[in-house]
Amino acid sequence: MHELSIAQSIVEIVLQHLPKEETVSVKTVRLRLGTMAGVVSDSLEFCFGAITAGTPLEGARLEIEHVPLKAHCSDCGRDTDIEPTLFMCPSCGGTSLTVLSGREMQVRDIEVGENEEVG
Ligand SMILES: [Zn+2]
Repeated sequence: MHELSIAQSIVEIVLQHLPKEETVSVKTVRLRLGTMAGVVSDSLEFCFGAITAGTPLEGARLEIEHVPLKAHCSDCGRDTDIEPTLFMCPSCGGTSLTVLSGREMQVRDIEVGENEEVG
């Protein structure tokens, strides 16, 4: 499954950013996900929850920020939001589009909390 391998790479990225010498647990992972990245966020959240069991990421919330598809139209020279299903400039109807954003899949922020010793 596509989303499973993406979830795994997110976990790897997060683990690389965690301090090695401390015991921390990850509270929240914020992810920028482009409309055109081809990722189903529900599946991604499900996979993320499944593979983080037993890791410092267990129970972490995956916050997905959806990035709209933006493109530069070389016909009218504008940068506009594009409807992914149409892929056409809303200003002039041109199709000479260069995608500026909307394909990214990026871990933006990781929120960690120290494990509290109970007792
Ligand atoms: Zn245009």
